[in-house]
Amino acid sequence: MGVFRLPAKVIDFMNKARQHCLWRGYNSQSSKQPLISWKQICKPKKFGGLGVIDLRIQNTTLLLKHLDKFLNMQDTLWVKLIRQTYYSNGRLTQLLGRRGSTWWSEVLKLWPIFWAIAKPSVGNGITVALWFDLWFSHPMEFLFPHLFSFAKVKKISLAKFCQSQDLSTHFFLPLSNEALFEFQQLQAIITRMNITTDASDLWNYIWGSTRFHPQRMYLKSFSGSQTQPIFTWLWNSRCSNKLRIFFWLLIHDRINTRDFLQRKHIIAANMDVSCSLCQDGARESSLHLFFKCNFSSSCWARIGLSWSDEVSITQLVTAGRRNNSLPFIMELIIVGSWSLWLHRNNCIFRHQHAACGSWFELFRKEILFQSHRFKPTLKVAISDWINFL
Ligand SMILES: [Zn+2]
Repeated sequence: MGVFRLPAKVIDFMNKARQHCLWRGYNSQSSKQPLISWKQICKPKKFGGLGVIDLRIQNTTLLLKHLDKFLNMQDTLWVKLIRQTYYSNGRLTQLLGRRGSTWWSEVLKLWPIFWAIAKPSVGNGITVALWFDLWFSHPMEFLFPHLFSFAKVKKISLAKFCQSQDLSTHFFLPLSNEALFEFQQLQAIITRMNITTDASDLWNYIWGSTRFHPQRMYLKSFSGSQTQPIFTWLWNSRCSNKLRIFFWLLIHDRINTRDFLQRKHIIAANMDVSCSLCQDGARESSLHLFFKCNFSSSCWARIGLSWSDEVSITQLVTAGRRNNSLPFIMELIIVGSWSLWLHRNNCIFRHQHAACGSWFELFRKEILFQSHRFKPTLKVAISDWINFL
């Protein structure tokens, strides 16, 4: 993966196997449907995903490392070999398109991504494209558009451009008044740059380093996604993964409530989808079942928690956590929700009656069981807290 670009079919095949492991386990005949999109699952945890590696992005990120080594002239045999074979005489990597071996051609396809995350600090200018790279505040083709239109060779490196004593030889003469004004500005910039043949160019990255960090690049690929503190609280909680993933699905409204099953067309449109824990006739949505239901509210009140009038689970949990100073509040919310789900299933599939006492027994057992994962002081605090109720 760090050497070759994986074919799309291979990645799809690997993803299918991974999806099968996640949703169906060992049963190869199971037709269980995924509860949430693979794209969401592959987001990093802080962006609301499950943190499963996105193979396409990972593959691209690892291959970008080769461009980093090449442009920063790393002292390795393959860099020297490729540079001498294809880029002698000052040719530029970024402007020659696909060339060389299949492997190198595939790496070069990633140039637009690399260009978006890196800009050069000029040393000798050998790896820098005069008109197109961001070696000044803006690419020169946009900063000096009139002069650019007079350029004889547009795909020229900064080093080769500066080799001429008379810079005007690079342009079709005579220049227009606007182009002449821009030429004088460009000349002044290049004089100030003091380009030397001794130092190599250094490519800097948008995360403020001259080192290429695959992990940072991987996270940058998700920079359009929003971070929400609730996911940090969730994954920092000390509950077992089984409960954390349950609550993660709950935040995304992907629990198999009657409302969700009907929305997914798993149960018929004319079937009763009212809440099984209360007699209010409300739809059994995640928001109702776990937070708005009268029965659920009485259960939460039993352990001293109440919810505001927020309209989403994320807002409710955020407000609940803010208004409560218990050091294990997130664990209480997760275990409380899990116990409500177990109790709801007992009512539907084992014909039990909805009773706050039964829920509390489930909750008490689960929180004490989970507390074995906590540090000793917190374990004692939870034990004292639950005994006091
Ligand atoms: Zn209800």
